[in-house]
Amino acid sequence: MNTRGTEEIRHRLTIALQEIEEAHEGSMEMLADGFQAFADTVDVASQETDRKILLALRERDRQRARDIRRALRQLEDGNYGICEECGEPIAPARLKAFPTTTLCVHCKEALEQEQYAHAR
Ligand SMILES: [Zn+2]
Repeated sequence: MNTRGTEEIRHRLTIALQEIEEAHEGSMEMLADGFQAFADTVDVASQETDRKILLALRERDRQRARDIRRALRQLEDGNYGICEECGEPIAPARLKAFPTTTLCVHCKEALEQEQYAHAR
């Protein structure tokens, strides 16, 4: 991939990471406020549900942040966009659509077929 392409991806990843970190701070405040606001009410069940949803979202964001940091590190190291499985370059169009992917489309498909076979 050319320098302009990787610069664009680095930029997008950096922004995505910032958004996750900001959203994360927001959700932590909500979590804290929520406990205080509902502390004296009987609405414990929905409070618990909200908390579970927030924690699930946080977990998903943590995973995404990890993927983004790894991609940024690979950009730094110059090994970004190489398939983990076969070592071939991943198609630039695929990297644009899924900047944190670590598999080329062939290996991804092979993996999905394998997972599907196991699921049955
Ligand atoms: Zn591959």
